[in-house]
Amino acid sequence: LISRRWRVEPTRIDLGDGVMVGEGNFSIMAGPCSIEGEEQVERVVAHLVENNVKIMRGGVFKPRSSPYAFRGLGIDGLKMFHRICRENGIKIITEVMQVSQIEEMVDYVDVFQVGARNSQNFNLLDALGEAQKPVLLKRGISGTLEELLQAAEYIFSNGNEKIMLCERGIRGYEKAYRNILDLNAVPVLKEKTHLPVIVDPSHGIGLRDYVASMALASVMAGADGVIYETHYTPEKAFSDGQQTLNFQESERLIKRMRQAYELR
Ligand code: PEP
Ligand code: MN
Repeated sequence: LISRRWRVEPTRIDLGDGVMVGEGNFSIMAGPCSIEGEEQVERVVAHLVENNVKIMRGGVFKPRSSPYAFRGLGIDGLKMFHRICRENGIKIITEVMQVSQIEEMVDYVDVFQVGARNSQNFNLLDALGEAQKPVLLKRGISGTLEELLQAAEYIFSNGNEKIMLCERGIRGYEKAYRNILDLNAVPVLKEKTHLPVIVDPSHGIGLRDYVASMALASVMAGADGVIYETHYTPEKAFSDGQQTLNFQESERLIKRMRQAYELR
């Protein structure tokens, strides 16, 4: 169902208020790795509004490698995040980690993110297929494109066609950066499916200094959007600060991505 052979027309996802994801638009989604508090959300929202970015990312349920790391503000954090975004016309993308969270989150979310670690959580995918909310599905930590497409098929075949695929880097042996951002995936996925393809260069390379280059390369590779991490003081971020852009870097990247998209 997600194949171009089944549907030639590209899928476009309407998030409401004129915010469309898919061919014909270039979607920028930015925000911190983790939602940390009201002041942080307000400052990020102000940065996005200033730069005409309509979608904010931020996790409240965080999948952390160590159980002792910050695991997110949970549902109360999401409600606060939602209130501030609604007041400012910003859409929310945030990660859902398990089936039982869908119901409590659904009214406070515009796009459910499925993280790399949950890319093949088939119960979660089935449940999101029934949820009728847009889903951004990340590629697994060492997932193949075929596995990503089959994971999307779980959601689609349960009746939810609003799916974005996300390349976020795969595990490799290179130690100079966090993951290997597989930009090959972009033109290949664009050819194989009608779904929008989004790239996450923050997790893809994992080092702040290189995020902008890979974001721009993603635009030229044909991505329908980019999702990246930004914070006013990345050094103090509760998670993923090493790959998070400050607002100055973020603003410059937004301008350059828009220019690159125009040239494409
Ligand atoms: C995130 O977006 O902060 C995240 C945890 O991403 P991933 O699932 O790609 O590691
Ligand atoms: Mn992160």
